[in-house]
Amino acid sequence: MSKSSDIIARDGKVSSPSLTRELPFVFRKGHGCHVWDADGKHYLDFTACIAVNSIGHDNPVIRKAILRQIKDGIHCAFSDFYAETPVRLAEKLLEFMPGFQKVFLCNSGTESVEAAYKLARWHSDRTWTIAFQGAFHGRTMGALSMTNSRAVQRERFGPFLPVVHTPYPYPYRMKMEPEECSQHCLGLLEERMNAMRDDLSAVFMEPVQGEGGYIVPPESFVKGVRKLCSEYGALLCDDEVQAGCFRTGKFLAMENFGVKPDIVSLSKAIGGGIPLGAMVSTDAIMDWPKGAHANTFGGNLLACAGGIAALDFMRQKKLGENAIRVGKIILKGLESMKGDRIVDVRGIGLMIGFELCTPAERNRVLLQAMKKGLLLLPAGDASVRICPPLTLTRGEALKGLEILEGCL
Ligand code: PLP
Repeated sequence: MSKSSDIIARDGKVSSPSLTRELPFVFRKGHGCHVWDADGKHYLDFTACIAVNSIGHDNPVIRKAILRQIKDGIHCAFSDFYAETPVRLAEKLLEFMPGFQKVFLCNSGTESVEAAYKLARWHSDRTWTIAFQGAFHGRTMGALSMTNSRAVQRERFGPFLPVVHTPYPYPYRMKMEPEECSQHCLGLLEERMNAMRDDLSAVFMEPVQGEGGYIVPPESFVKGVRKLCSEYGALLCDDEVQAGCFRTGKFLAMENFGVKPDIVSLSKAIGGGIPLGAMVSTDAIMDWPKGAHANTFGGNLLACAGGIAALDFMRQKKLGENAIRVGKIILKGLESMKGDRIVDVRGIGLMIGFELCTPAERNRVLLQAMKKGLLLLPAGDASVRICPPLTLTRGEALKGLEILEGCL
């Protein structure tokens, strides 16, 4: 029995069966954009372990930052005491986000969305929220009430919080031109907003829909959502957990559409691999009182030291510019493969999705690519996502495309 098979068999006995594994990849170690499985087989990593390892696996800046911090302490109870490292992280985050002044630190994506949801409810003192069909915002009950990407994620967990879902523009599936699709979805959104009028707290939106299929909305749609939120007095809550931190070239993906949200949720890449989340807003909006929201591990010293190092590295190495440059190479390569197997290609920077003709064909391609040494992840019903470390080079991108072409 191979080492990987042995670990998978032992995992089956002790791990929750609710986890979402699609591929039999067993992580052993990683370096840069490369990973090795438990049997020593090498793979090019086009997943960054779900858009987390944006600065590459085993980046020495993270290792050094953590070791430096460990000498002084690991945990400081930031909800109850004060410490400089979390304050430095918040200051650094705000340097990337002009117009925002306040940060709530937490440990994961779902927690940063949960915090945004609670802040929106508290600040507006209103009841209802709108989210999008196909959205993934996390799995705690507030975030799950807005999540709507797969039936199994919600089954048996109701009743949910007061959330209404409305279509997200998906031109390929909705069989519409992008502009027509944008206007159609904006019309439906306004109908729902009208129905709630003075009791609508917020609209939650992924600037590029992630788990739903790596769907890029038309610019007019994102601008339209902003305009409607302002007209109806609803807060625009921007879930940047997957799309943020330079994955689409800009620090926030929403900047690509020239839109400023009211509340932002961040996680995944900001910790450089250490669990870290942040909910960011303005002085005026983050006006809740002492005790309204807090946590035990938010501001954890190791997580914050990792976050500071990751953000510094992203800025110094201009990873946003690299994401755009290398992303264009991948998009061009995928466009040239479009045909009866790959039926749609979309993306910004290194957040790229391509849709296969059927879910079965998508699953076949994922497995085949893995066998040939390219690690990919699914998204939506029949799409594949490409979200490699933002350090990906032109050569690595071309190698990945070559492997992928061999799978078609
Ligand atoms: N929001 C988005 C857009 C995500 O992609 C995810 C996770 O994939 C989450 C929230 C939830 O994050 P976590 O799994 O860290 O709770």
